[in-house]
Amino acid sequence: MTGASSSAANPQHGLTDRLARWARGFSGKSDEIATEEEEEPQRARAGSSASREVSRRRKLYEDIGDFLFAHDLDLTPLNFSVALDYLTGAHIGMEKAIRAVLAERGKITNGWIETAAAEQRSDDITPEALASMLDKVEENLSQFTGLMTESRNSAKDYGAALQEEVKGLAAGSDNQPILSRLVALTRSMVEKTRQVENQLRDNQKQTQLLKSNLESARRAAEHDHLTGLPNRRAFESVLREEVKLAQDEDEALSVAFCDIDHFKVINDTHGHDTGDRVLKFVAGLLAKISDDRCHVARHGGEEFVMLFRGKTAAEACEAVDAVRQDLSTRSLVNRTNGERMERVSFSAGVANMMAYEDPRAALKAADRALYLAKEHGRNRVYLAAETD
Ligand code: GH3
Ligand code: MG
Ligand code: MG
Repeated sequence: MTGASSSAANPQHGLTDRLARWARGFSGKSDEIATEEEEEPQRARAGSSASREVSRRRKLYEDIGDFLFAHDLDLTPLNFSVALDYLTGAHIGMEKAIRAVLAERGKITNGWIETAAAEQRSDDITPEALASMLDKVEENLSQFTGLMTESRNSAKDYGAALQEEVKGLAAGSDNQPILSRLVALTRSMVEKTRQVENQLRDNQKQTQLLKSNLESARRAAEHDHLTGLPNRRAFESVLREEVKLAQDEDEALSVAFCDIDHFKVINDTHGHDTGDRVLKFVAGLLAKISDDRCHVARHGGEEFVMLFRGKTAAEACEAVDAVRQDLSTRSLVNRTNGERMERVSFSAGVANMMAYEDPRAALKAADRALYLAKEHGRNRVYLAAETD
């Protein structure tokens, strides 16, 4: 397991390691051995450098606190670790992402950090990290095959040796030496079996660890951390599968793009944390109607995409419109200050996937229908004209 992928599997590990390294870096301890004469000045120097490091550490703690406080961030290990990355420049990707969002919005939120950290983690799953995981899997498999062959061969050798000795037993008069050899043989076979069992157990543990690391790498790469929905990348592969299934089964397949109305205003009025909660809420409403024939994914920002297999575009329109109505009649409360929010709504565009030359053209048509729904007043669901 590489460092990058193990921290992808457990972000807390990365934090603990970095905090430990950081603490060691500031401990003021030195590996140098002082000579007799130099001991006093060395001690004085060490003392002053230790106190410098202590004040540097204290300053960093304060900076982290100021940063968390300025952005109204919760005191969580993740937020602490991200602040540390940003202030020490320990993670270039994260530092760049924070600079960009500060330049754009001037503020970062708990939700933004969660999403950004998940993105960085999935970015950490580089082709090299994946290749190294696959190398390990291969190594484990060949180790396993090796162990099996070794175990089979030693069982065969043991069988042959036993047979030889038993022949001797039947023919010979003095059985004592043969019996001793049999006991020794059996002992060595028992020992060999125990060794192989231990190695197999280690191998099994490694395989389990690899399995769970691969699984979390796959999940991080395909899920949106904020809403928990599949992300655009996952949607692209579901789309390919669903188009093929619908073609094979000669079934209807429709696509819908849903985009929250005036979301920027929601962020500006209530803050990004509330914006994040609204995003999660809308994601939850859309996810409620999803099943194995209806897929929903976060396409990006405040936009979701849905696929309906076995539903005509008109039927998909109805299903999406029911969610739209449900949302637009709800009276949401801003949890931060307890105030009632203005109504939240979304607009959507729906298209029949099979009515176009290729899936791209159908997505474009749904996007255009969404654009028209926005143009004509928002909080509505439009069906794409099939001649689009
Ligand atoms: P329209 O009705 O035309 O769709 O207007 P809009 O304000 O929803 O659209 P616009 O594209 O102008 O703004 C979208 C905003 O969504 C801007 C961006 O900062 C915000 N946004 C994108 N992703 C997130 C997120 O994860 N969390 C929060 N809180 N805001 C986000
Ligand atoms: Mg919008
Ligand atoms: Mg949008």
